[in-house]
Amino acid sequence: MISDNINRIKSEIPEQVTLVAVSKYQSVEDTQAVLDAGVYDLGESKVQDFLIKHEILGDRPRWHFIGHLQKNKVKYLIGKTFLIHSVDSIELLDVIEREGKKQGIVTDVLLQLNLAREDSKSGILIEELGIVLESLPKYQFVKVKGLMAMGPLTQNNDKIREIFVELKKIYDRIKEESMDEVLEMNYLSMGMTDDYTIAIEEGSNMIRVGRKIFS
Ligand SMILES: *Cc1c(COP(=O)(O)O)cnc(C)c1O
Repeated sequence: MISDNINRIKSEIPEQVTLVAVSKYQSVEDTQAVLDAGVYDLGESKVQDFLIKHEILGDRPRWHFIGHLQKNKVKYLIGKTFLIHSVDSIELLDVIEREGKKQGIVTDVLLQLNLAREDSKSGILIEELGIVLESLPKYQFVKVKGLMAMGPLTQNNDKIREIFVELKKIYDRIKEESMDEVLEMNYLSMGMTDDYTIAIEEGSNMIRVGRKIFS
């Protein structure tokens, strides 16, 4: 049962860690069951699916967009998301800025890093991060609030932990060096069904869990 799964996960994680229930691929009924169980942070990865659920479930949930975001679809998300986790380029920041400006709405986002350097994943590479951070002061309608990354595709927990440790270090460094007006680092989004325990041990404050809730 969805509510049992949620209660089990919640009992395992510290209070300051936000549980985002990844409701992608799930029906409206099952997504509603998450809300009924008291979890209001929902993660969606396809714009079309998100819009259908948003239409029905409205603004009561905090909607997290976690999938790869195409520039031509940004306009559909403006004003509807709590956080876009998957911002992976300056070009995408530019489009969110432009669309936000049109509507007078500020969008909060996370920068997605591809620390494991996996071709199958999107995300900013470590050597590109500096130039992205330097571009941030010019944006008025898109605000970076933290970082997101996925653990590497492996069963090797040490490898997974290594990536999370690295992400936490980068997060702390940016948090220390940046001024709050430009960049207010609040969220470190790391950890999914198979690796959220490790992620929390290494400093995650936002986990994105799908399968463990819905199976
Ligand atoms: C699907 C997905 C999740 C949830 O994954 P589970 O393994 O089902 O917990 C988390 N984050 C992102 C970016 C995803 O695409």
